[in-house]
Amino acid sequence: MNTRKTALHRMLKTPTDTGWGFSLPRIFTAASYQLLPGACLLCGLSAQHDIDLCSTCEQSLPQLGLHCDICANPLNTVGICGRCLSQRPTFSTVQTPLLYQYPVDLLLQRFKFGGQLAAGKVLSQLLIQHIKDRMKSEKSPLPNLLIPVPLHWKKRFSRGFNQSEIITRELSGQLNINYSRHAIKRVINTPAQHHLSRKERQQIPHNTFVAGRESQLLQGARIALVDDVLTTGSTVEALSRTLIKQRAKSVEVWLLARTPLDN
Ligand SMILES: [Zn+2]
Ligand SMILES: [Zn+2]
Repeated sequence: MNTRKTALHRMLKTPTDTGWGFSLPRIFTAASYQLLPGACLLCGLSAQHDIDLCSTCEQSLPQLGLHCDICANPLNTVGICGRCLSQRPTFSTVQTPLLYQYPVDLLLQRFKFGGQLAAGKVLSQLLIQHIKDRMKSEKSPLPNLLIPVPLHWKKRFSRGFNQSEIITRELSGQLNINYSRHAIKRVINTPAQHHLSRKERQQIPHNTFVAGRESQLLQGARIALVDDVLTTGSTVEALSRTLIKQRAKSVEVWLLARTPLDN
């Protein structure tokens, strides 16, 4: 059974709590919310005017909280995690507002495997707000080039879209930053990360990514790599190394949500 079928199977089989004391199959609720403009994507009640979530559901989303300054792995204190201290990543920071936990995982699965663009848009809007807040509080300059984490062409073809590109387009429009989806390309099709153990995930071949036909844009650029969710970080580390090799000035990573490293 392929990934898409597995996800659909899970949606059909896994009931979702409606909040009204009974449950419905997830596929039913996901489909019904798509038909109700202005409805909260999670509970179906009236959404706020600027985002397809009601304020109760938005406030109940799992926030990142205290985390490593570099890789954003959740910590009990401020500072840098042991993993980053022992081996400093090539990227300077990971920025994300949310943890990859329920119901963020549900929204992401609807977006990525169910093709529900509204779910991707909601999560992108939350990331944009996070980036704007950070810009104000840290007075840090924004990157000047966004790069979506590329999929191998076979995976893009079978899924029909690259979720990172859709997120990047949203960010580019709202933050007024250029993006390129041809500056770098993926030439090795690594298996889906979430099916692998952590050790296997860390073994991304060093030549997985190579310069693409717009690689001249990378020279001297302050880049934000955009992806949906980060697990071990091995993909963005491999990409960051390739970008720096192509003379990018700096690389940071922007994500919709973060999975704790030990999960
Ligand atoms: Zn709601
Ligand atoms: Zn760290």
